[in-house]
Amino acid sequence: MIRHRKYVLDLSDLQYKQVRLPWKKKFFNILLWLAGSLVVAAIYGTFIENIFGSPKEKMLSQQVENMKLQYSLIGRELDNSLASLNSFRLSDDKRYRPILDMDSVPGSYRKAGTGGVDRYSDLTGYINSDLLIAYKSKLDEIKSMATVQSESFKTVAEKAIEWKKEMDHFPGISPVSVKFRLGDSFRWRTIHPVLGVARMHNGQDFEVPYGTDVYATGDGTIIESGWNSGGFGNCIVIDHGYGFQTVYGHLSDIKVVKGQSVKRGDLIGVSGSSGLSSGPHLHYQIEQYGTHKNPVNFFNNDVSVDEYKEMIQAFASRAKQK
Ligand SMILES: [Zn+2]
Repeated sequence: MIRHRKYVLDLSDLQYKQVRLPWKKKFFNILLWLAGSLVVAAIYGTFIENIFGSPKEKMLSQQVENMKLQYSLIGRELDNSLASLNSFRLSDDKRYRPILDMDSVPGSYRKAGTGGVDRYSDLTGYINSDLLIAYKSKLDEIKSMATVQSESFKTVAEKAIEWKKEMDHFPGISPVSVKFRLGDSFRWRTIHPVLGVARMHNGQDFEVPYGTDVYATGDGTIIESGWNSGGFGNCIVIDHGYGFQTVYGHLSDIKVVKGQSVKRGDLIGVSGSSGLSSGPHLHYQIEQYGTHKNPVNFFNNDVSVDEYKEMIQAFASRAKQK
């Protein structure tokens, strides 16, 4: 290592002579150097920190950035949840409820439990209060929507079960599955074929060969089974519930007894020409809450019992998948 020494030219003998400073001067120089370094370091440090920040500040601001990112991810999750709930609400109001003939859930009921001015007063006064309140109110909205939606779906499910039961009981098929010709219809008859007088024909006649199988047109209970003195001869009456009753007249044979439960499509009798009848046919009539209805409006000629069952099952399984 090279030692730094100071030399001066002595003009008296033209020799370079080493300068020896007194120790006080040396000490003072060192002190001066130290003080200068400290000042430079302080100025430089403040300058750098002002522009780039201290390492601790840097770490803190990195943490803040991370938290901001996490907050925005949570915010996105909240928005996604809200969007899902909204699509449930739309399906509920626009699809399930109209199909089941149910009213929409009132908007006021769906919004119950949200809003209010002082609701988030405990979250005010913080630097990020706005963000906290925005997220908390979204969470509250999600909670309220989920509760209402879950209740609504429960009601819809109950109604669907009830509706399925009602559909099973509804007299919705033709009572005969062979090719038939529609005979006398639901109308005012000026001349009854047997009685020869004017009389209302309260049902629909099916021109079918003697001995044709006759089926229950919906689930129900047999409330009459036997001879009908009113002119229907061997006759069956089924009570389907929901205000519906069906009558099957002029039978040659009866396969059910009073009080028996039947399902749609069950064989209940065989067609004939008993009672006041001018030839083999099935007289079929439908009453709803005591009023006679035109049976042709209750079934489709082109749909068989099995096809009808398939249709109901397909609809039920599709409803289950949704
Ligand atoms: Zn008739």
